[in-house]
Amino acid sequence: MSSTPSRFDQINARFRGVIDAAVDGIVLIDENGVIETFNPAAERIFGYQAQEVIGRNVSTLMPEPDSSRHDGYIKRYLAGGSPRIIGIGREVVGRRRNGQLFPMELAVGELHDLEPRHFVGMVRDISQRRAMEQALAAREQELRLMFDGAPIGMFTAGLDGSFNEVNPALVRMLGYSAPDLLQMRCLDLTLEADRGALERAYRGLVSGMRSSFNRQLRWLRSDGEVVSVELHAAVAGGSMSAGFIIGQVIDHSERVRSELESREARERLAHVGRVTTLGEMASAIAHEINQPLTAISSYAQACIRLMNQGSADQQLLLETLQAIAAQALRAGDVVRRIRGFVGHRDSDRESVALNDVIASVLELAAIDAAANQAQISTELAPDLPAVLVDPVQIQQVCLNLIRNAIDEMMDLPEPSRLLHIETRLGEEGVEAVFTDVGPGVAAAMRERLFQPFQTTKVEGMGMGLSISHSIISAHGGSLRYSDAPQGGARFTITLPVALSSV
Ligand code: ADP
Repeated sequence: MSSTPSRFDQINARFRGVIDAAVDGIVLIDENGVIETFNPAAERIFGYQAQEVIGRNVSTLMPEPDSSRHDGYIKRYLAGGSPRIIGIGREVVGRRRNGQLFPMELAVGELHDLEPRHFVGMVRDISQRRAMEQALAAREQELRLMFDGAPIGMFTAGLDGSFNEVNPALVRMLGYSAPDLLQMRCLDLTLEADRGALERAYRGLVSGMRSSFNRQLRWLRSDGEVVSVELHAAVAGGSMSAGFIIGQVIDHSERVRSELESREARERLAHVGRVTTLGEMASAIAHEINQPLTAISSYAQACIRLMNQGSADQQLLLETLQAIAAQALRAGDVVRRIRGFVGHRDSDRESVALNDVIASVLELAAIDAAANQAQISTELAPDLPAVLVDPVQIQQVCLNLIRNAIDEMMDLPEPSRLLHIETRLGEEGVEAVFTDVGPGVAAAMRERLFQPFQTTKVEGMGMGLSISHSIISAHGGSLRYSDAPQGGARFTITLPVALSSV
């Protein structure tokens, strides 16, 4: 080194502060590749102290094959060859003091008008950025796998509801090809009747009132079939203005179909049950209708006689005709009650008083009880909360319990055939308790009591209690058996209190 500072030393000294403060590593080398300046950022990046590398060839900082070839690169450039890296920033691999290789961005420039010639390398360690990029790519791949492999339909959509991306499950669910779906919006798939609900939910999202919604909708497949879906939509990307919509779609068609089928099956079964119960009561009913018919017939004959005598007493005629009308009404009443009981098919839940249901069933049961010389006493608690039930189905259950009780008491002497019906408020809801004085359910029968085709009667079907049990369960209630304290059978129906009356 000469005593007067070289131009390089002057530059180096002048920019020392800038070089030392730089965030990027700065390495100055001469035309032989020998390191002359190594700033603190370069020390941090490469793990060398400046004095360890100053005077050494810059190839120390790079792995093979660049390390061995580096002198050649400089020579070729100095000889006028086209630069491979000078003036061009690019990504290369660096080598730290501990041998670790890392990705770095390198920009090399020549310090002009210097003799000998010098080069400056600016180095940025991008290993962290790379690691983040790799983690992001891995995460992206994971999400892609989830999206593509999800068993439920998934999509992303723009703010106008048009699909941006759809997954294979959604394509399968809807029968459209992915490109076709990408031309559509959720709304286009939605059945006319459900569009209002979807639009309202959607407006809630767009206005920022809510960040997600869940809707049960019916969508139309490409083949015109309806799929019952549950759509969960949420805003992604923070705000609606910068965001998009992520949708998840679950196909409930199967469940809805099987629910419908099982409801229909239950309805059919219930209908069979009602017909069977009435069948068992047939002779009592026939008797009940026959009585007014016989009365009508004899009143009519009396009228004919009066008129044939030619001197009909107007008042007597009128009274006889009124008696005929009253008897006809009585017969009509029985027929109407039976028709109301058997003809009913659809399950219609209403909020009703259980006492009223029992009172109406007693009108039908009274015929049966009277025909079999059985007494029915009641103790109906006042002010019970309402229950949400299909009244005809509950009537059927009660009628069945009454019929069974009468059957079981037939071996007792007439005056002691007693059935007591009580209503009350229990812990789990409103209860109706049917207690008879018969022999009670035989031990062998108890476990299978509510199973179908279990009967101890010669002509029994063994369906009554099983249907009754399924009807009460479908109402969210229970039907239980216990021995009555004084012997006899006790059946307890419990029905949950209707929410509106809580
Ligand atoms: P079915 O009346 O056709 O036999 P159910 O399912 O209504 O069918 O009743 C099943 C069986 O349960 C009856 O056969 C009878 O053995 C028994 N059972 C039902 N109710 C009573 C009762 N109140 N007392 C004693 N046993 C009963």
